[in-house]
Amino acid sequence: MNLSDNLKNILEDIERAKERSKLHQEVKLIGVSKHHSVDEILEAYNAGLKDFGENRVQELREKIDLLPDDINFHMIGNFQTNKVKYIYDKVALIQSVDRLNLIEEIDKRASKDHITVDVLIQVNISREEQKGGVLPEKLPELIEKAIEYKNIRIKGLMGMGPLTEDHGEIRKCFRELFNLRESIKNRNYKEIDMDYLSMGMSGDFEIAIEEGSNMVRVGTKIFGSRK
Ligand SMILES: *Cc1c(COP(=O)(O)O)cnc(C)c1O
Repeated sequence: MNLSDNLKNILEDIERAKERSKLHQEVKLIGVSKHHSVDEILEAYNAGLKDFGENRVQELREKIDLLPDDINFHMIGNFQTNKVKYIYDKVALIQSVDRLNLIEEIDKRASKDHITVDVLIQVNISREEQKGGVLPEKLPELIEKAIEYKNIRIKGLMGMGPLTEDHGEIRKCFRELFNLRESIKNRNYKEIDMDYLSMGMSGDFEIAIEEGSNMVRVGTKIFGSRK
């Protein structure tokens, strides 16, 4: 099976999952290209994919320089505050924002450049220690503080399902993230719009879409396993 067949199959799976979901909304596919080569990214790009996710600052920087300008890169991994300077003005969306000092640093850089940086707040819905993200109960407080910073724009939430085969457990986590986003939306902050709910990876993107995801981050099912 080659990459463009993989892509075609995933887009079909996404369509079917959309039909099963109650929302019937558009779903954006992010190809997670971490540990895969620039040539593999170009192959996916030529097959029509325009959004790619990377989880390491260094790898992202190297790849951006070698790839077409109309690719949208998404930062999806946790990174140190002192690395903000390398990526804040180069990516379409930073999906892994989970603490105030990161927000402060992005805002500081962005305001100097008179730009606005789009971010998602990552929530640790599965409460697994090795995963990044703010804990669900701390999310409202983080958002309250984040809206003070005028050069970042919060576009929604990101989360990862738990590492388990138990589909019921995975579904429960995704439902919690959906409900968290609804509760933030209901506060009607004028500074944020909550457009995106980024959840779902190779193993669970169909469940995520059924539970209201409109952005899925798929690596292995597009590019094969990572070396
Ligand atoms: C690696 C990664 C993915 C993609 O994982 P696959 O299982 O390969 O689809 C999605 N989101 C994040 C945050 C990741 O780190």
